[in-house]
Amino acid sequence: MTTSRRKFLALSSLGTAAAALPASVLQAAPAPVPTPKAVLRLSCQEGVAPGKSLTEKLDFLEANGFDAIEPGGRGLPDRVAEFQKALQGRKLKVSAVCAGFQGVLISDSEPERKKAMETIKEVLTAAGALGSVGMIVVPAFNNQTKLGHQESRELLVKLLPELGEHAQQAGTRILLEPLNRAECHFLRQLADAAAICRDAKHPGVGMMGDFWHMTWEETSDYAAFIAAGKYLQHVHCASRKDRKLPGEDEGDNYVDGMKGLKYIGYQNYISLECGCKGDRLQAVPAAAKLLREQWELA
Ligand code: MG
Repeated sequence: MTTSRRKFLALSSLGTAAAALPASVLQAAPAPVPTPKAVLRLSCQEGVAPGKSLTEKLDFLEANGFDAIEPGGRGLPDRVAEFQKALQGRKLKVSAVCAGFQGVLISDSEPERKKAMETIKEVLTAAGALGSVGMIVVPAFNNQTKLGHQESRELLVKLLPELGEHAQQAGTRILLEPLNRAECHFLRQLADAAAICRDAKHPGVGMMGDFWHMTWEETSDYAAFIAAGKYLQHVHCASRKDRKLPGEDEGDNYVDGMKGLKYIGYQNYISLECGCKGDRLQAVPAAAKLLREQWELA
């Protein structure tokens, strides 16, 4: 068969299939028009930025065009004034606040759950005072709960609105973070985290995606971010083989995921959460450059 004959047959069978579909179905998948248009805002965890003091780290991030810093939640309630003072007169913001609570939110032990609820609220209050997008919470790492998957999920959906309400009152959110299976069985994929947010039915409850964990758990970064949709409020980024700075592993590529972020009109931060193979003074700006270049390609 000639190439043109094959093309003709393929096209006519497509035509037949299309003709069999009602017009409403054919028109049901419009191209996305995100409002507003997605923007790349770069953030860096406090521990990843080079510098001996918070001021030195902020100076470095500012000089290299970052938009925000991501503090750890541990001890943050006692550091609110320090952060507020150090950020005064700067464009830099606080992106997310990374965990730092005690206990286990979906533990089979009531005192552990209570400890988690109380200390998460303390960090949420601090996160809100700093204008943070949200506080990152992992419901349970591997072996931290004896509850089965279904029971864990029901418990989490029951607990989240109270934390979401506290977060909202404080001016922030609680953000669920899916991890790879080596760290957590319970919550591994973005779509699952988004479905939990949907079921929690509280505007103070959101979720995030971490390119590092997504490397092992998602079949498509693009699809994962689209499935997360409006619930996605934060993104972590690391190199894709060794969890170092983006660009420190050969072939580090985030374009597929960034296409997804653009599709949903993502407005929040991509934050560096990673180690470093080389010199941070060079590797952090190089990572920022790589992410900016790939954002343009997405
Ligand atoms: Mg992470």
